[in-house]
Amino acid sequence: MNRISLLFVASVTILWSCTPKQEKMENRMKEFISGYEAKAIPLYRESALASWEANVNGTDEAWARSEKASVAYVSFYADSEAFAELKELKASDLVKEPLLARQLDLLYNMYLQGQIDTSLISEQIRMETEISKKYSNFRASVDGKLLSDNEVEDVLRNSKNSTELQTAWEGHKLIGPVVADDVIKLVKHRNTIAQKLGFSNYHQMSLELSGQVPEDVTKIFDELDSLTRDNFVSLKGDIDNYFSQRYGIPVSDLKPWHYQNRYFQEAPEIYTVDFDKYYENQDPVKLVTSYYAGIGLPVDAILAKSDLYEKPGKNQHAFCTDIDRSGDVRTLDNIRPDSYWMNTILHELGHGVYSYYNDPSLPFTLRDAAHTFTTEAIANYFGRLATDPGWMKSMGIIDEAEMTKIMDDSFRALRLQQLVFSRWAQVMYRFEKSMYENPDQDLNQLWWDTVEKYQMMKKPEGRDMPDWATKIHVALYPCYYHNYLLGELLASQFNNHVTTTVLTGDSGADMKAVGEYFKSSVFMPGSRYQWNEMIEKATGEKLTAKYYALQFVQ
Ligand SMILES: [Zn+2]
Repeated sequence: MNRISLLFVASVTILWSCTPKQEKMENRMKEFISGYEAKAIPLYRESALASWEANVNGTDEAWARSEKASVAYVSFYADSEAFAELKELKASDLVKEPLLARQLDLLYNMYLQGQIDTSLISEQIRMETEISKKYSNFRASVDGKLLSDNEVEDVLRNSKNSTELQTAWEGHKLIGPVVADDVIKLVKHRNTIAQKLGFSNYHQMSLELSGQVPEDVTKIFDELDSLTRDNFVSLKGDIDNYFSQRYGIPVSDLKPWHYQNRYFQEAPEIYTVDFDKYYENQDPVKLVTSYYAGIGLPVDAILAKSDLYEKPGKNQHAFCTDIDRSGDVRTLDNIRPDSYWMNTILHELGHGVYSYYNDPSLPFTLRDAAHTFTTEAIANYFGRLATDPGWMKSMGIIDEAEMTKIMDDSFRALRLQQLVFSRWAQVMYRFEKSMYENPDQDLNQLWWDTVEKYQMMKKPEGRDMPDWATKIHVALYPCYYHNYLLGELLASQFNNHVTTTVLTGDSGADMKAVGEYFKSSVFMPGSRYQWNEMIEKATGEKLTAKYYALQFVQ
């Protein structure tokens, strides 16, 4: 009802300003949208609901229903007649009313992805499944024992014996030669698909279809690199000194297996604050309920539909899903009273409030986040609270004295974590971009050149192995990793805006102001604006790395 009246108002105003030709095209777009919504909404809803039930119950029937529903939803966009109509409307350049034009852009990209030859898609899925099996079945052979990824991580995190560390690290890296040729074939296959749709390669296609211009993303990564480089050099010095002492070897003898995880993607625990002990006797659900209510964004309706605790057959991770973009928002978790789950439930409900507090007067296509990384940013913003001593004190988890005691180390630990992760994300972004631009280059060398440049970790002498292929995201979750880092940058940009512009110092009013700010500036606009336009309207600036640097670089 709201939507109809909104469109009516829009068409009345346009009567005065638009040509008959424009009016004709805009009417065709409106007609397209009503036909689209009638069919797409039920398919979207069934697919979201079936996937939810499969993840909660894990039965074969539930998974079969989920697969069927998601195939039905995805194949809906293969409709070539519908795509031809969108193509004509787009080419006319006469759909100018902002909401219609925005929907045209988004729907065009969705249907474009559906226009790939089904035989090429099935071939891609077949290749991905094969590779996926190889990763799943692989176990690192270490001193005659077969170790899972988690067991390798355990050795790397806990052992202080260089030989043992090296053996575990090298054992895990043997998945590289098992999958490398298959991954290169898959990369070339993805490029073929992208080129058929008019893109130069798959990396460019993935970013552009999600609404990102690759040059813009690279510019932000360059900005972040120059803002963090010096600080990282100095922190890397601290890290190396810490490891040199831990292992009793000179800094010059440190190798990639000394960094406590397979890719140096997480920070070592140099500054130890035991956050788990603060949450041992807390109820994370009670805490989030009271916190989100306090900022004027109650989450009771979301929690009522959610599945919060462990049970057999259930997905062991966490996610949040918007079933109908009309208020049915749910999160799946496996909550325990510790800091990891405190962070996770705050994070998932960040996604939750973004979806739940949307603008019901917007059309279905626009009742969505501006981009996946903008909802990740909101989730990160709230997730970070779990280890923020100021927040913990305001929630009554710790007292003033404890807050003062752990303040510095909490901040140092977070800063180290952020900087280490940001350098690692640089490696992933630069490597993937270059790999899709030229999959025939020496990828083994490219990987280590990138690692040395951004993580400042030296390649073991003489090593020439496909170490890049050991990272499962390169093969199976392509061209997405950069969004994790963009989410962190935007979380810091929001944080800066909130602290400098939204907060006034009156703590009671400030809580509500934060919720109201996010609701009106980020959640309600949904995807009516391109993500950078939304960010500029919400913070006064386009996405920038400078607030992340301001927060985490000294
Ligand atoms: Zn998330």
